Amino acid sequence: MEFKKVQKECVRNMIRYGKEFDICIDKDYALLKLYEEVGEFTQSILIHRKKSRPEKFLPEEESKKEVAKELADVVGFALLNAELLDIDLVKALEEKGWFNGDGSL
Ligand SMILES: [Mg+2]
Repeated sequence: MEFKKVQKECVRNMIRYGKEFDICIDKDYALLKLYEEVGEFTQSILIHRKKSRPEKFLPEEESKKEVAKELADVVGFALLNAELLDIDLVKALEEKGWFNGDGSL
């Protein structure tokens, strides 16, 4: 799926979530949730690397899935922030040097 379509779909799902739970999905919410998810991602990494309390340890594959889920949340909220701030993330990534738009490395 094209990047912009992924972004639109993520935002559409977030708006649906907001309506379901009566949450105002605005710029403040998007920013605060991004920080929350970065924290959850960090926690999942600590658990995955067994740098947390032992009772939180999970089997390797399970903890890696948790890391992936939390990283997906970070990306999802980054996409929501981009949408609400009217930022073309593909353009921003290219301008920041994350990739070349012509497909070359
Ligand atoms: Mg999460």
